[in-house]
Amino acid sequence: MTAEHSDVIIVGAGLSGVGAAYRLQTECPDKTYTILEARDAIGGTWDLFRYPGIRSDSDMYTLSWPFRPWKNPKAIADGDDIRTYIREAADDYGIERHIQFGTRVVSAAWSTDDAMWTVTSTVAGKTVTQTASFLYLCSGYYSYDKGYTPELPGLDPFEGQVIHPQFWPEGLDYRGKEVVVVGSGATAVTLVPSMADEVKHITMLQRSPSYVMALPQEDKLADLMRNVLPDGFAHRAIRRKNAIFSIGMYQFCQRFPKASRKLLTRLAKKKLPEGYDIDPHFTPVYDPWDQRLCIVPNGDLFRTIRHGKASIVTDHIKSFDATGIELESGKHLDADIVITATGLQVVAFGQLELTVDGKAVDPHKLYVYKGLMFSGLPNFAWCVGYTNASWTLRADLSSQYVCRLINLLDKKGVDYGMPDPKGAGGDARPILDLTSGYVQRVVSDLPQQGQTSPWTIRQNWLLDSRDMKRTDLEQEMVFGKAKVPATAS
Ligand SMILES: Cc1cc2nc3c(=O)[nH]c(=O)nc-3n(C[C@H](O)[C@H](O)[C@H](O)COP(=O)(O)OP(=O)(O)OC[C@H]3O[C@@H](n4cnc5c(N)ncnc54)[C@H](O)[C@@H]3O)c2cc1C
Repeated sequence: MTAEHSDVIIVGAGLSGVGAAYRLQTECPDKTYTILEARDAIGGTWDLFRYPGIRSDSDMYTLSWPFRPWKNPKAIADGDDIRTYIREAADDYGIERHIQFGTRVVSAAWSTDDAMWTVTSTVAGKTVTQTASFLYLCSGYYSYDKGYTPELPGLDPFEGQVIHPQFWPEGLDYRGKEVVVVGSGATAVTLVPSMADEVKHITMLQRSPSYVMALPQEDKLADLMRNVLPDGFAHRAIRRKNAIFSIGMYQFCQRFPKASRKLLTRLAKKKLPEGYDIDPHFTPVYDPWDQRLCIVPNGDLFRTIRHGKASIVTDHIKSFDATGIELESGKHLDADIVITATGLQVVAFGQLELTVDGKAVDPHKLYVYKGLMFSGLPNFAWCVGYTNASWTLRADLSSQYVCRLINLLDKKGVDYGMPDPKGAGGDARPILDLTSGYVQRVVSDLPQQGQTSPWTIRQNWLLDSRDMKRTDLEQEMVFGKAKVPATAS
């Protein structure tokens, strides 16, 4: 039996996959496409994570797509609202009927003779193969199967519950309980104020602090612009304004680490109670934006600390006993529930095993090309967002780039294009430039980047949005034709 064939297979029906489908059907209207999604729902991250208070920590004008205005007054939005935004888009644009749910892609094999990917998935325990001319991974950047939990020393005697936010038990009753959230990242600073009103007390236990900055949940200037300008125009203008603000903030932090450290610490101090120990609880050892900045809408974390419902402890876990955690300082934290907000397990390429003409591909040996393609991988791209700004700013540029490339292949009368592996090389450096643990743990499993364009991934939307739409698509690329002309299936 001939395998089902699509011009493009998109892996993943999250924010990136649905956005990619919209771009494909508008910019390559003659191409067929299929979205293969492991889960039974649209939305990816925004459907999976269900912990209390789950929300974006970047503003929604930049996390949403430029082609679909964000109309909700909340600029920092709840997970439910983001999920609805993605689902409604998939419905309105007729994307949902292209999605095959419950389809976990496990491998993809490229054949140069056929100029085709054979994509193997498991569906309800059975193996299914399909073919595609172009493979576009919109599979996100972390494992859906497991989160990251460091070893918790001496956990056995603990009689309470231990929960990872990625797998939040539905209906978990935490009213009146002692809760300890282990971690200091975006998830921890979201959970603490969201649970504080109902618990007996909540403690954020961190080994080392993060920079935390308060931003208004609603954007007054954006509201004004939305009131006076047509929807689409207002959305794009606010998106640009906010993207420029985040780039400005990032550049300021990176160029003037001392001044930005001082500023962030001063802003936090203003929101905390008189005499609060800023050091060590809000004074990270790294410089601002060497790791992602934690945003707290309307300063909710600071407010719960002021009200005494939450506290921060900077210490190390020595071991557990039946009633809680013993710290290295000798202190004891009572706990009925321990939440390990300790991060994600970053993975490359949706954990797919890739082969090219029968040879296994080692992701770490690949060089990234223009932030989305890879040396020696034909008709293949991986959609990843910015680390220092909203994911979608880059994801949407990637999808537009893929569409331009597919149209170029047709125009040139060729079947495939790939970044020339002979061009890549030089001093390799990590693809992600964050010092965060979740990045450092996996850096040797991820592709790398070179020193100069096009073998880099740039973290600057303003420059990318100028270049990605105009850049020479043939730069350091090789093109070719199938030996066996593809037959329509
Ligand atoms: C809690 C949390 C909060 C975040 N907040 C922000 C924020 O405020 N701003 C920001 O810019 N970014 C944020 N991010 C990053 C976030 O992941 C992106 O914003 C964005 O949602 C990524 O979309 P995506 O579609 O690329 O990936 P995902 O949302 O991860 O979706 C990937 C989809 O691909 C599917 N998939 C993966 N592998 C396979 C496979 N092998 N076969 C089939 N299907 C597969 C998954 O099931 C999933 O549905 C956050 C991440 C998390 C975890």
